[in-house]
Amino acid sequence: MPVNIIDGRQLSDLLIEEMAQEVKVRMAQGHQQPGLAVVLVGEDPASTIYVRNKIRCAEKAGLFSVVTRLDETCTQQELEDVVNELNERDDIHGILVQLPLPEHLSEERIINLIKPSKDVDGFHPVNVGLLSSGQATLIPCTPLGCLEILKREMGDLSGKHAVVVGRSNIVGKPMANLLLQANCTVSIVHSKTIDAAALCRQADILVAAVGVAELVDDNWVKPGAVVIDVGINATEIDGKRKLVGDVNFENVAGKCRAITPVPGGVGPMTIACLIKNTLVAAKQN
Ligand code: NDP
Repeated sequence: MPVNIIDGRQLSDLLIEEMAQEVKVRMAQGHQQPGLAVVLVGEDPASTIYVRNKIRCAEKAGLFSVVTRLDETCTQQELEDVVNELNERDDIHGILVQLPLPEHLSEERIINLIKPSKDVDGFHPVNVGLLSSGQATLIPCTPLGCLEILKREMGDLSGKHAVVVGRSNIVGKPMANLLLQANCTVSIVHSKTIDAAALCRQADILVAAVGVAELVDDNWVKPGAVVIDVGINATEIDGKRKLVGDVNFENVAGKCRAITPVPGGVGPMTIACLIKNTLVAAKQN
């Protein structure tokens, strides 16, 4: 059977279009326009592009959006003042502080300061706790996007063996939690795992969120598995800058049933899920 290369851009466009319709209908019914605030500290080129894409998609979905830019050298207090002000605004339902922050700023303090009801990244400890206890909450966008892809590709995930490579708070752990809630049998692989490849070869679903370019090769993959590549790694090939994932796409595509490409796979779905979370937050308000 030929491999299905999952088009995350197309799926994301579809979801954003559906949400735009929903926003239109809700506003016609007299509901407030959902509002998303994004805070960007400094001018890191990758973060600047991510923020631009998020705002573009928010606007496509009919959301009201604001971007607050702070200088690279801003103080913790200045950043906290911005978050506090956004926490109090009635027209803002979702707040996202683009990470990573410059080293002199505490990400933990900022994550903990955002009101859990406006935490559209799903990183606040209250939302993390709700997710791990299986209660409705705002779920981190990247794993939520991966789950959406998997459900559309495979339908019911019950009984599947899912292996998640990576155990970060923003991708690996919430991904494992979501797969567990979808009734998968879940294994988590990390840097101390012995023979990661052997464990991964048992996976019906393999999610790679490592940050190591092309770590997952075809000898890590069971024939017919569905492979989700979260990684975004900038490399240089023949003097040209290129983005590659955590999976060796060429080799693995020859072995699996379906795979997400990098770019154009998980990335766009992450943004669609940010819009989804903002809508959820606005509805709960
Ligand atoms: P982190 O660096 O926070 O976590 C990486 C994880 O991979 C850690 O748990 C680490 O293990 C594990 N790991 C590292 N090396 C190995 C190895 N050789 N074998 C097995 N496990 C290993 O990364 P993130 O989770 O934040 O991001 C992962 C990737 O996803 C990055 O490329 C990032 O750019 C990308 N990303 C993409 C997004 C998107 O929208 N597409 C969004 C967020 C991230 P240990 O805990 O033991 O150190």
